[in-house]
Amino acid sequence: MTFTLTFISLVLASTLIRLWLAGRHVRHVQQHREQVPVAFDQHIALDAHQKAADYTVAKSKLGLTEGLVQAALLLALTLGGGLQNIDNYWQTLLADHAILRGAAVICSAMLLTSLIDLPFDYYKTFVIDEKFGFNKMTLPMFVSDLIKHSLLGLTLGGPILIVALWLMQSAGEYWWLYLWLVWSAFNLIMLAVYPSFIAPLFNKFSPLQDEHLKKRIELLLTKCGFKSQGLFVMDGSSRSSHGNAYFTGFGASKRVVFFDTLLARLNTDEIEAVLAHELGHFKHHHVIKRIVMLFSVSFLGLALLGWLMQQPWFYSGLGVDTASTYMALLLFLLVSPVFLFLLRPCMASYSRKNEFEADAYAAKQAQAKDLISALVKLYRDNAATLTPDPLHSAFYDSHPPASIRIAKLSAYAG
Ligand SMILES: [Zn+2]
Repeated sequence: MTFTLTFISLVLASTLIRLWLAGRHVRHVQQHREQVPVAFDQHIALDAHQKAADYTVAKSKLGLTEGLVQAALLLALTLGGGLQNIDNYWQTLLADHAILRGAAVICSAMLLTSLIDLPFDYYKTFVIDEKFGFNKMTLPMFVSDLIKHSLLGLTLGGPILIVALWLMQSAGEYWWLYLWLVWSAFNLIMLAVYPSFIAPLFNKFSPLQDEHLKKRIELLLTKCGFKSQGLFVMDGSSRSSHGNAYFTGFGASKRVVFFDTLLARLNTDEIEAVLAHELGHFKHHHVIKRIVMLFSVSFLGLALLGWLMQQPWFYSGLGVDTASTYMALLLFLLVSPVFLFLLRPCMASYSRKNEFEADAYAAKQAQAKDLISALVKLYRDNAATLTPDPLHSAFYDSHPPASIRIAKLSAYAG
């Protein structure tokens, strides 16, 4: 009973916090809609600024609706008896196969949550992004992406789920430790194979052709102590006109990937500065730290699950009458985000600290003024708001608000 009350209060509290922050954000953005902030008024026209405001408001409203629907679904699945019904259904079909039944119950619940998200994805792509001119997807592409994602999820997630259920059932007291080892190994393998085997399923990657740009990038990489394992251009423009750049790979060898949309908009100096920022993340070991953090969190989570699985109140408190290993896993997957929601500001603040460090590194290895002009272009072309509500930003944003970030960079530029 106490656990049920804690759960309900947390669902309510996080929903109210979401509502309150979204309301603040929308009001703040609308209040600043009529004027481009002074620091940007040389580079961003009023209509672009207003487009960013309207785009932000539209996305916030959609996100809020989705959050409310997800909270309602979570309550329906747990306290509303949804999971118990799904379990009863599969009991009649797979009574003697606990592992298969577990996989079926978990997949049914996951399918249900993805089905709920689907209309929101559709609306974001074909209504909001379409209206603001970002969408490049067609309906057949959307459907084929959906099928590819589902098949990929089944081929990769299916076996790991079966292994997890088997360990939980048969590996004794320390199953969670074995599962953690399997899970960590699986994640490391995924990180290693993602660029060469998975990303190409969704996008085309071609070697960078521009010789001048190639030379500049090679020089920067050498200066920063990296070796490139190849410079690639990704056809990001086939899906959306938002621009980006990223790195993949381990150790000192990096595969550098540019979105074609980024190359089309930035000049060589700006591209170099953006790259230097990304290299900064590596120099400061942000990527490794993130992986270590994820592994520690999954270690603690699985140990906690090992304990929760044996507590009758964990099931009954969440609307499930029949305790089972798979139900413990499913409840844990569905409910832990509610408990983690309140940690979001800490994660976001840590991430913003990393961004400042990467910016400082970029200012040293390239020119701060080039990073500033690249950022201004990216903000403008991605219609990202320059005037987020400060509290909303502190709670959610992985990147610092544009004005603060650029003010810091300007200080480096002298
Ligand atoms: Zn960054």
